[in-house]
Amino acid sequence: MEKKFCTAVVLAAGQGKRMGTKVAKQYLQIGGRPLLYYALDAFERSPYIDAVVLVVGDSKQISYCRETIVDAYGLKKVSRIIAGGKERYDSVFCALKEIGERMGDAAKEGYVLIHDGARPAVDETIIERCLAAAQKDRACVAAMPSKDTVKLADENGFAAGTPPRDRVWIVQTPQAFEFPLIYNAYRRMEAEKQRLETEGIRITDDAMVVETFTDVKVKLVEGSYENIKVTTPEDLGMAEAFLRQKGALETKEK
Ligand code: C5P
Repeated sequence: MEKKFCTAVVLAAGQGKRMGTKVAKQYLQIGGRPLLYYALDAFERSPYIDAVVLVVGDSKQISYCRETIVDAYGLKKVSRIIAGGKERYDSVFCALKEIGERMGDAAKEGYVLIHDGARPAVDETIIERCLAAAQKDRACVAAMPSKDTVKLADENGFAAGTPPRDRVWIVQTPQAFEFPLIYNAYRRMEAEKQRLETEGIRITDDAMVVETFTDVKVKLVEGSYENIKVTTPEDLGMAEAFLRQKGALETKEK
């Protein structure tokens, strides 16, 4: 694979309200380690990743993460821990500005993989597939074909349409891009944020920013059905089972 600098952005600035726990979900324990540790560890192990920018909620969380996760588990690639923003896209933009303004030319001219810290079962294979696709097609997202039929609903909760199932993909992260492409797309979005809010357009992933503000098509790359986002309590048990299956827990529990 072409060797250009590659930065991973790991997002952990959400409040995780749907989990309903006092502790933010990214700090809940699985196999004796915080949930957030597992995604960071996957990027640490990948030979394609040069640096990791970790995005957390506030300055208290910055020191908490540095001491209890990054230093405690020797995650040497985490070179920046920064505070995020109100929405997921605000947190991503904070990280892109950090890379674009403070991490040097190599990072600015390289690739970026943006990943939800709440997806612990990402692994080196998915990271490699995403980076290869970003090098070929400039922009890509990990995704899996939907196993279920998907309905679009109208505002009253009635079925309003059924997209053909073989064209429906469930989108995951990492989402990988040429850095200048995604940085410029986000800057354009930032300039038009007011209009998006007025029109009720909610940006829920990074691919959407590229789709809306550039002419570049976003490639769908195979993720995995195990690469779930821990959102509600029942997801925690599933994530633990998937990590155990991959052998990611045994060594940690000893
Ligand atoms: O809210 P959602 O489940 O879509 O969040 C996906 C990821 O984005 C999570 O890892 C969460 O911590 C992160 N996030 C963030 N900043 C926000 C909101 C969410 O970093 N303001």
